[in-house]
Amino acid sequence: MDNFHLPSTYQNIVFFTGAGMSAESGVPTYRGRGGIWKDYRWEEYACESAFKENPELVLDFHELRRIEALKCKPHSGHFIIKDIQDKFPNSTIITQNIDGMHQRCGSHNVIELHGSLWRMRCESEGAIYEDYDRGKYSSRYCDCGNFRRPDIIWFGDMLNENIIQKANLAISACDLFISIGTSALVWPAAGYPQVAKKRGAFCIEINPEDTELSSLYDLKIRTKASLGLKNLFNTNWI
Ligand code: NAD
Repeated sequence: MDNFHLPSTYQNIVFFTGAGMSAESGVPTYRGRGGIWKDYRWEEYACESAFKENPELVLDFHELRRIEALKCKPHSGHFIIKDIQDKFPNSTIITQNIDGMHQRCGSHNVIELHGSLWRMRCESEGAIYEDYDRGKYSSRYCDCGNFRRPDIIWFGDMLNENIIQKANLAISACDLFISIGTSALVWPAAGYPQVAKKRGAFCIEINPEDTELSSLYDLKIRTKASLGLKNLFNTNWI
């Protein structure tokens, strides 16, 4: 890794990020050590049937996630990606995270595969309500009187077709694919490195640990997100 020099010929960069990207900011993971699903059963808090049965309980839970996320700040790795995006305007972030950390450091072109903690939607009208940087929801109700639900892909939900299309487009046009902090076990995200590889993109994985897809990558950087990005782009952020 020390001798690797990233050629500047790459123009269409895709940063593909997962829970490990936010872990350094202190956002708890879902599974694993300290994971949220150790303390809460997702069946009671993160699926449509739980929301139908007890919307207030589910909304309390998501408010708590927002309050916890607001205590965390983007780390140097998020800022490095933002800087690279400024230099390469065609670059895209495809994230499985719902915490909005990339946007909080000024990144643009962020495709959120699993939705956002900071958005709600009305299921009967489809209205979207954005509520950035507030712990408590500004309102739990749509103007039509129904509950707003978090605009997040819960267990058992279908992914949003438009979002998937956008992600597919970005990947099919990319010449450099950098995966950071994801085990990529969750579909369709699990297929993205393969698509990028087939398309001929140079593929890099930044993760302290091997993943099931590691053999696909041209370069594996076995360290945490911030340090891996710093080394890759020769920056002085940290
Ligand atoms: P995952 O938990 O399956 O994998 C996390 C990966 O990050 C692991 O491979 C781990 O080795 C790596 N990792 C841990 N610390 C790291 C660090 N400092 N730097 C780089 N890598 C590190 O996560 P996933 O692949 O994103 O899938 C989990 C699912 O849970 C996703 O669907 C996601 O939507 C959701 N989720 C989101 C958040 C969030 O919004 N912050 C948090 C937890 C889970």
